[in-house]
Amino acid sequence: MGTGQRDLRVVVVGAGMAGILSAIKLREAGLTDLVVYEKADRLGGTWRENTYPGIACDVPSHLYSYSFALNPDWTQSFSPGEEIEAYFERVAHEYGVVDDICFGEEVTACDWADGRWHLETAAGTRDEADVVIAATGVLHHPRYPDIEGLEDFAGACFHSARWDHDVALEGARVGVIGTGSTAVQITGAIVDRVAHLSLFQRTAQWIAPMDNPAYDEETKQAFREDPDRLAGVHESLSAAFEGFSHAVVEADSPAMAAIEQACRENLENSVTDPELRERLRPDYRAGCKRLVLSADFYDAIQQPQAELVTEGIERIEPAGVRTTDGRLHELDVLVLATGFRTDAFMRPMAVTGRGGRTLAEAWADRPVAYLSISIPEFPNLFLLNGPNGPVGNFSLIEVAELQLGYVLQLIDRLRDGTCREISASQAATDDLEEQRLEASRHTIWATGCRSWYLDDRGVPAVWPFRFTRFREEMAAPDLSAYDQA
Ligand SMILES: Cc1cc2nc3c(=O)[nH]c(=O)nc-3n(C[C@H](O)[C@H](O)[C@H](O)COP(=O)(O)OP(=O)(O)OC[C@H]3O[C@@H](n4cnc5c(N)ncnc54)[C@H](O)[C@@H]3O)c2cc1C
Repeated sequence: MGTGQRDLRVVVVGAGMAGILSAIKLREAGLTDLVVYEKADRLGGTWRENTYPGIACDVPSHLYSYSFALNPDWTQSFSPGEEIEAYFERVAHEYGVVDDICFGEEVTACDWADGRWHLETAAGTRDEADVVIAATGVLHHPRYPDIEGLEDFAGACFHSARWDHDVALEGARVGVIGTGSTAVQITGAIVDRVAHLSLFQRTAQWIAPMDNPAYDEETKQAFREDPDRLAGVHESLSAAFEGFSHAVVEADSPAMAAIEQACRENLENSVTDPELRERLRPDYRAGCKRLVLSADFYDAIQQPQAELVTEGIERIEPAGVRTTDGRLHELDVLVLATGFRTDAFMRPMAVTGRGGRTLAEAWADRPVAYLSISIPEFPNLFLLNGPNGPVGNFSLIEVAELQLGYVLQLIDRLRDGTCREISASQAATDDLEEQRLEASRHTIWATGCRSWYLDDRGVPAVWPFRFTRFREEMAAPDLSAYDQA
């Protein structure tokens, strides 16, 4: 290429938000020898897979957008999933990266040998790359509940991320298991369509009030005509969420207290029946679990055809759900809004690093990556939205953009020949992990609740520092934390 730079081949695994971002930014950086392997037949990741009624983002759309492809046409403050999927499709086309994607190709193996990654897909394709970016998602593998008799249910039963649109809800008796953001969105969206809705609640949730106005044509036109105005909205939302990120990592901060107060008032002011109100009142602090935002949940659960079931589930029978009080809740449809296996990351892909070290060995205890990006002895492999990163009511787009900017700086060292292999050192990874464990103890997530943020030790598996620190870390890699060869 005449610039003294090495030509690098890059493989990206996954064509969701982070994979599309990677392809766009790699191309912009002149890394055009790239391929994105996507196991599905369409891009979009989360927003392709989750099509349940009521799906929407719960950070404002003008923040949940690529900073370089802001969208004047979002219809609402928190736009529906369909619109978000269409946005990713459009951006991928506009930035010319769709042809970089090989659909229907699930990467099953990734082995480091002779200074390169050797990949294999389920379809038998083999490829080699100097760099692999794992953009395989975090909320991707559905978690199915371990309830006796689940397979005996005679009606329709599916996970919220595998919604069966052939099943009619009109006039049906529908059960929803779970009370996270997804269950709350489904409840609000279907309550008026069903004959009866049973919401099986194991843990009550704090619900933060949410205003979701539609943008009128005038506002959208103003955004179209004035990109600076649109950028200003993105920036101010980003700053507001940075404030939120500081509150959650400082459990005793006044900002956290204000969020808790807003949730308490929402419950007090929205639910009229004192008995129902108490059953909906969590016994832990707001923000300890991922905060649920909703404009319509309390209203929905107070509809005459809606029922909050707080008795535990004993088992599932062909006719419905039997609770521990002996009652059978007869159902036609059972929705499992039971979340995702959040510790899988790029697995079940079999990854083998330097010296035959497998990912299974490296993550035998639990998933760890330096700054959630790089794993010791796995050179030139970079994770987006990897373990222990900033998740939880933030825009993961903003997180992925910062991570990718950082990764591109590491790739630059491979390109300019400074090194041929780069991965975080074990010492830097262990040291950061130690700091992370200490900081985790002061976060709202560690104040006594069961949540998907907690690892098997009960330690929040997330970024426990201020988001400002994350920004600083991502601005330029501390190269002393890396093994380079
Ligand atoms: C219901 C729901 C609501 C959400 N709401 C928000 C929100 O409001 N704000 C927010 O910031 N985040 C939200 N999230 C998180 C959301 O997952 C991220 O914002 C974002 O979409 C993640 O993008 P990703 O590309 O990292 O992963 P994904 O979107 O999960 O994409 C990963 C892609 O990789 C593919 N893949 C995985 N393994 C392989 C393999 N081995 N080979 C080939 N392809 C593979 C998958 O098929 C998928 O297409 C939500 C998640 C869910 C489930």
